[in-house]
Amino acid sequence: MTDSAQAPPPTSAPASRSAVPPAYTVRESSRARRVTLRMSVERGLEVVVPRGFRRTKVPGIVREKTAWIARMEERMAPERARLAAEPPHSLPERIDLRAVGERWLVEYRETASSRVTAREHGARGGLDRAQVAAGSANGGAGHAVGAAAGAGVTLALSGSAAAPTGATTPGGVTAPVGAVTTGLLRVSGAVGDPEACRAALRRWLARRATALLVPLLEAAAREEGLTFSSVAVRGQRTRWGSCSRRGAINLNRHLLFLSPEVVRYVLVHELCHTVKPDHSRRFWEEVVRREPGAVRLRTELRAAGRHVPGWARAPRG
Ligand SMILES: [Zn+2]
Repeated sequence: MTDSAQAPPPTSAPASRSAVPPAYTVRESSRARRVTLRMSVERGLEVVVPRGFRRTKVPGIVREKTAWIARMEERMAPERARLAAEPPHSLPERIDLRAVGERWLVEYRETASSRVTAREHGARGGLDRAQVAAGSANGGAGHAVGAAAGAGVTLALSGSAAAPTGATTPGGVTAPVGAVTTGLLRVSGAVGDPEACRAALRRWLARRATALLVPLLEAAAREEGLTFSSVAVRGQRTRWGSCSRRGAINLNRHLLFLSPEVVRYVLVHELCHTVKPDHSRRFWEEVVRREPGAVRLRTELRAAGRHVPGWARAPRG
């Protein structure tokens, strides 16, 4: 029950036979139970196969999905073009975490250290409290999740869910929706190495995402009266979220760059999988009942990759 936001439909339109077969890579996964196709800006088309799967069957499978591949290529074209236009080593001067109304100004400071670190300094207002939360959260790894987790999905927080009250989240993610709080993020060390700076920023993002997204999911679950068994925040390339049959939810740290409404949709979508582990009509009725804007938000989500800055993406390879 793979539930990638991009999972190809079970059947696709007949592919044109004359087309050049698309380039792809094959990856064997001990967790995979069936073949899945994944498409990401970073890696292009990837075919994930269960261990021991006969490679000779792969070209035929890819051929059957030509129409889906073409649709995904088209959908990703603007994002690819934007990333291609970005200077390869560009570093951000400002980071907007739209999901939670935070703006971070980034300062780079060369020091004698050979390492590069990103630390929060001089935060004001809501960020002071959020910093406490970040400090106490376990770093990016999140709670365990056996990757039985096939089922994924995507979601977002509505205004109210995106801003849990101090009472519900001790340590507090209290930035009011719509308001932007500004903090200073200092990157220091051997900052002449852009890739090391980007890596430090990604580590900071991973910590921040765990500190912020976990409470948002908890708040949304309380609000919706749904429960999940565990949550992990990760850097998936092709999914915004997923939910296993055991109710283990994975969230993508890049959700922080999306609007609060889209994030709420992702959260509600994944939470609904704890009661309906498929994409049946009943499942969608459940999602729409809880999030009336679901159809529009789902469409928005499809194009949401463009909000993820280049530095936040893991390097190719
Ligand atoms: Zn789903």
